[in-house]
Order: sequence, then structure tokens, then C-alpha cells
Amino acid sequence: MTIRIDAKRLIPGRGEPLADASVVLDDGKISFVGPTADAPDADQEIKTDTVMPGLWECHGHFLGLLTANFDELSGLRPQMAAMRVTHDARNVLEAGFTTVREMGGYGTFLGRTIDEGWAVGPNVYASGAMLSQTGGHGDFHGAPLHLARDLVERHWGEDNICDGPDECRAAVRRMLRLGAKVIKIHASGGVMSELDDPILPQFSKEELEAIVDEATRMGRLVGAHCHGSRGIIAALEAGVKTIEHGTYLNDEAADLMVEMDATLVPTRFIVEFLMAEGEKKGMPEYARRKGEEAAKKHSEAVSLAIEKGVRIALGTDIWATGMWGRNAE
Ligand SMILES: [Zn+2]
Repeated sequence: MTIRIDAKRLIPGRGEPLADASVVLDDGKISFVGPTADAPDADQEIKTDTVMPGLWECHGHFLGLLTANFDELSGLRPQMAAMRVTHDARNVLEAGFTTVREMGGYGTFLGRTIDEGWAVGPNVYASGAMLSQTGGHGDFHGAPLHLARDLVERHWGEDNICDGPDECRAAVRRMLRLGAKVIKIHASGGVMSELDDPILPQFSKEELEAIVDEATRMGRLVGAHCHGSRGIIAALEAGVKTIEHGTYLNDEAADLMVEMDATLVPTRFIVEFLMAEGEKKGMPEYARRKGEEAAKKHSEAVSLAIEKGVRIALGTDIWATGMWGRNAE
């Protein structure tokens, strides 16, 4: 079965866009890209305005939540969340994203369901749960610790809290048994968690090194949620390859990112979304306070990263059902 797509504009991904060009698919594989005048005939022909390669969303969460308050998870049945994320998967694919790097949530299960052919969606390159120290950004501070751990295990498959190098190593292994393709950690405090400070680093040097060592041995890269520059530097020195958010990036951290050939995923979308719509979506007061402070610094950090030549990848940090599909905004 051959399919020919004729477009007024074709963006090949490498080089300049082409006018009046075609892509020919032969049993799902691209067999021709070039001017329509030179394109071979096909069984099926489609005409459209623009054709381009599929995009990557490099930081999202399939959580099935409806609000900007993660406490919603405790009253949400996993079955409901799992149903909702299949809708999100279709929406993001239809928005042009053929791969999602899912940095904590239902992604490992969703990705496997899509791979099996039972749901429509992008390739999902998922992390399982987000690894966090006790009291860190991936902990639910309002609940007793055992209930917070249970909540994460109930929704995303395995406990995410780990302290000390041995537990950190074991936590990486727990994510691997979910089918994680990337390991996500919290190397600083965050905005959406109640009691920690986004500026302060999380996980010790020994813990970070144990996580990276274990992940590397198993052929996975580690991505770290980091706001403060000390957390960014500690993560990079331990061998973390992507920095997520990077809100308080300074000269030293930006230079180190270039030196280590690391990638920044600034998630600018969520910063602007929370400032504009967060309150309406139930964002807690503590998150609004921390978010306002972070938002001021975040655009400076992105400017600095561009100026220093840090490699940047698109990521939105979209997590709510109904928001998926807005990934290119
Ligand atoms: Zn995130």
C-alpha cells in the first residue's frame, strides 16, 4: 500500500522548506521526499497545506488530573485517571506530536498500551514515577509518609521515595521494572509541592551519583527537575543529561551545561499557564507564591541559556487532561 501526501509546503526538518512537494509512504515507510512533479503515483493520494516531521514533547505528564492541585490525586481512582490519559494521548498525537517524553505518571502503561495497538497515541518515552528524597518535590507533604508513598505506587506503579545511595539504586530498578526508558529525579524543590524551596538542592552528591550510575549501567539517561542553580550544578556533575525547568540558571550553571553537552527543557508553557490560569484551575496558595517568584526569574534563565548556546528542547510540563493538545502553544 502506497500513500502520497502532496503539500503546498513541506518542512523536511533539515534544510529549507520546499514549496509544492510530496512525501510517499510505502507500507508505512517513507520512500520519497521531493517535488510533487517528480513524485511517483500511489494507491492513495492526499492533498494538504503543510507536511512536517512529527514533533517531540520532551516534558509532559499523563496524570489524568483535571486541576492544578496534585492533592486531587488522593481522591482520584487510578481507573479514572487511566481512562482519561488515553484521551490525552490521542489529542497530543493529533496536535502533531509523534513522541512524548513522559517525566512521571501513567506513561509507562499508556506507552505499552499504544505499542500493543489498543490505544491511539504517540510513542511514549516514559519514566515511571519521579524519584524524590523524603520531603522532596515528589513527596506529598500533607499526608503521613506511608500514605504519600502508597498514593504514588497506587497511581504510577511503584514507590518513588528513596534516601541514601542504596535506596536510590533500588528506586531506579523499581522504575525499570515498570518499563521506564528514562529516569526522572527531583534535584531541587518545586513549585507545586507544599513545603520545599525551589532554590534548594535535593538528593546528596552520593545519591545523585548512585542514581546516574545505576541508570547508565542499564542504558538509561537521567533527567532532573531543577530550579535552583546549586541543584543544576550538582545534577550535571553527577552525570544528569537533561535539566528540566532551570529557573535560576546562572552563568556557572549555564557554562557547565554547555561543557557537559546537557540539554535544557525549560517548560516555558507551564510557567505562563500557571500565572494566567493557575488560580482558576485550583492552584494552591503556596504554589501561587512560589510560582510568581519563579516566573520572574524563568525568562531571564531562558535568555541566558540562549545567549550561552545551551541546547534547548521543547517541553511544556502539561499534566492535566484537557490540556494535552496545546503542546505547541
Ligand atoms: Zn514536570
